[in-house]
Amino acid sequence: MAACRKQMELACHRCLAVNNIADDWLVDEPVYQACGAPLLPAEPVNLDAGSFDPFIQHAGLPVLVVFRADECGPCEMMAPIFDSIAAEMKGRVRFARLDAAAHPQIPIRHHLRGVPSLMLFRDGAEVARTTGAMEAHALRRWLASQGILQAKVQ
Ligand SMILES: [Zn+2]
Repeated sequence: MAACRKQMELACHRCLAVNNIADDWLVDEPVYQACGAPLLPAEPVNLDAGSFDPFIQHAGLPVLVVFRADECGPCEMMAPIFDSIAAEMKGRVRFARLDAAAHPQIPIRHHLRGVPSLMLFRDGAEVARTTGAMEAHALRRWLASQGILQAKVQ
C-alpha cells in the first residue's frame, strides 16, 4: 500500500538553494520555494555563468540546455519550439537557456561549435548534444533516443 517515495534534490533555478523533495511531488502543481520561484516552472529557466554549474549539478532531473544568442535567426526560430517541448516534458527534464555570447566561459569550456546547440546533462555531466535548429518532432525524437519520453497526459 505504501508507495516507495524516493527523495531527490532539486536546485532552485533562481536562488540555487537545493530542495529535498519526494519524487512523487513532481506530478503536482509547481511548489513555490522560500525565494518565491516555482520549483519546476513549465517554461525554460535562464542560466548564466554563475548559476550554470550549481544548477546543472543539483538539478535532480536531466537538464536540457539550449545555447543561444541574440540576433541568431535559427535560435529565434527554435525558441517557441523549445518552450513548448519544455511544457510537455515538465517533471521529466528541466529546460534551460544560456546566452552563449553573454556568458562565453561556459560554451568555451564545452567546446561549443555554434548556436543553437542543445546539450543534455545528467548528474552534472554532458551526455548528448546536437547543433542546429530542430523542429518539434525532431526534438521529441532526439529526446526519446536519450530515453526521455513525454509524460502521459489526459
Ligand atoms: Zn529559490
